[in-house]
Amino acid sequence: MEAEHILQEVAHAVRQCTQCALSNSRKNAVPGNGPPNAQIMMIGEGPGFHENEQGLPFVGQAGKFLTELLQKGGYKREDVFITNVVKCRPPGNRDPLPDELTACQVYLERQIAAINPLVIVTLGRFSMARYFENAKISTIHGQPKWHDSRLIVPMYHPAAGLHQPNLKPVIMSDFARLPDMIQMAKQALNNHPVATQSQDSDTQLSLF
Ligand code: URA
Ligand code: SF4
Repeated sequence: MEAEHILQEVAHAVRQCTQCALSNSRKNAVPGNGPPNAQIMMIGEGPGFHENEQGLPFVGQAGKFLTELLQKGGYKREDVFITNVVKCRPPGNRDPLPDELTACQVYLERQIAAINPLVIVTLGRFSMARYFENAKISTIHGQPKWHDSRLIVPMYHPAAGLHQPNLKPVIMSDFARLPDMIQMAKQALNNHPVATQSQDSDTQLSLF
C-alpha cells in the first residue's frame, strides 16, 4: 500500500482509538501531518491545549517556535512530517504514562514505516527515549546517531526554550546545524551504506 493510504488509515484509526484512557478526555485526537514522502520527521510528546482543540500538531506557542526553527534552517514546515508519541492530550499537559506510551506506539511505528524518513528529529525526552536508552537530553542534545540507516537527531523540546530562556540559544544553535547534519547524512548513506546500519554510537558519531 502507498504511504499516503497507510497514513490516512492510521489517522482514521487514531481518531476512533480507545486503547488508552486518554481517549476519555480528548476533544480531538492528533494523528500528525505532513507529506507522505517527507525526508524529515519530527516527533514530539503529545498534544497540548490548542492541538486538542484543533486536531493538529504543534499549533500553540511551542509550535510557533518550532516553525521559526525550521525556517531558520531553510525548511518549510509543510515539508516536514510532524507527530507525537501519544496522539491524544494528557489532561493538564501531564507527562504521558507508560501504559499510554505503549498503547499508542503502534501508530507511530506505522507512520515511521510508511514515511521511511531519512532523518528523525526527537523533540523532548519521550521520543528521545525510543532511540537513546537512559540518555539525558542535557548531554546528548544536537548529537545525532544512526539507527536502521536513518539519522536520529535528539533535540530539546521547543517548549523548553520558552520556559527556560537560557536554553533558547542552545536550541537555536542545535537547529541551525540541522541542514549540515542532513547533508552529511545523505553523503554518508551514499558512501558508507553499511556504517549507517550500525547502532553503535561511537562509530556513528565519528561520521560527524
Ligand atoms: N507539544 C508537543 O509535544 N506536541 C504538540 O503537538 C504540541 C506541543
Ligand atoms: Fe489511542 Fe493513542 Fe489516543 Fe491512547 S493516546 S486513545 S492509544 S490514539
